[in-house]
Amino acid sequence: MTDLLTGNYREILLGVGENPEREGLLDTPKRAAKAMQYLCHGYQQSLEEVVNGALFASDNDEMVIVKDVELYSLCEHHLLPFIGKAHVAYIPTGKVLGLSKIARIVDMYARRLQIQENLTRQIAEAIQQVTNAAGVAVVIEAKHMCMMMRGVEKQNSVMNTSVMLGAFRESCNTRHEFLQLIGRSN
Ligand SMILES: [Zn+2]
Repeated sequence: MTDLLTGNYREILLGVGENPEREGLLDTPKRAAKAMQYLCHGYQQSLEEVVNGALFASDNDEMVIVKDVELYSLCEHHLLPFIGKAHVAYIPTGKVLGLSKIARIVDMYARRLQIQENLTRQIAEAIQQVTNAAGVAVVIEAKHMCMMMRGVEKQNSVMNTSVMLGAFRESCNTRHEFLQLIGRSN
């Protein structure tokens, strides 16, 4: 895989008018290939492996919130980064998920080629599937390099997406409580 990517990055250097033999670029195809593999390592992971049994019995049926999970992903349209934060909440029904696992689930889906809408939904559905929660909410706010560095060059636009499942979709109060806790209600 690395060999294939290394060859491809060499072609990219030629394609942009560079000389892959000049000193500064000699190792670039290999380095870029490794970096790209790292940025896409989510393809090598599965939900079962990431959760790894870290589900614990609990009587808690109050909303669990993890705010400001750092998020780094690549847009599938331009292969350029989008960077931001995810806010995740769920309402347990007998089982809670180890806290670090939420961040790891976000990361597994973020480290693939994505559009923000699908990423948001995949995270929500994964948490629903793993915890059998009464409801799951995911909000992502991110800045897209494909908008900031090219095209419309809108440097400060932040894209917001949200997916609400179960109680967060059905109950205004629950949704409102979540949005308030992440500082997003007006
Ligand atoms: Zn894009």
